[in-house]
Amino acid sequence: MNPQELDLDPETLAAQRAARALLKHDTKILTVTFFVFIFLLFILYKPLPFTLALLPPFLFIFYVVNIWRQWNALIVHKLRCPHCGERLAEHVHLLYSPSSKCRHCKQPALASTSQLEKTE
Ligand SMILES: [Zn+2]
Repeated sequence: MNPQELDLDPETLAAQRAARALLKHDTKILTVTFFVFIFLLFILYKPLPFTLALLPPFLFIFYVVNIWRQWNALIVHKLRCPHCGERLAEHVHLLYSPSSKCRHCKQPALASTSQLEKTE
């Protein structure tokens, strides 16, 4: 076993895998939406300076949506810390991404992608 792997019970692993699957699914939707928006922006608004001025707000919106969906995956699947049992997220914070460590006991709480995929 990799020393960096977390020792998680099957139920926690399944919940983390489900959260990861939700994130993967959301990533596809977000990526397609992003490129459709960018494409429409350049098609509908011909003046280049105006189009370029709209890019930063679009990028900011996608940045915030990206953070929101990470918190949402933790909340929807009610992920709990394997060490202290506390919920990993109860509220969405739009200014920063959730950490892989528990905010209560500061222990690593989320399995790495490789661990989740290896035991699938
Ligand atoms: Zn904890």
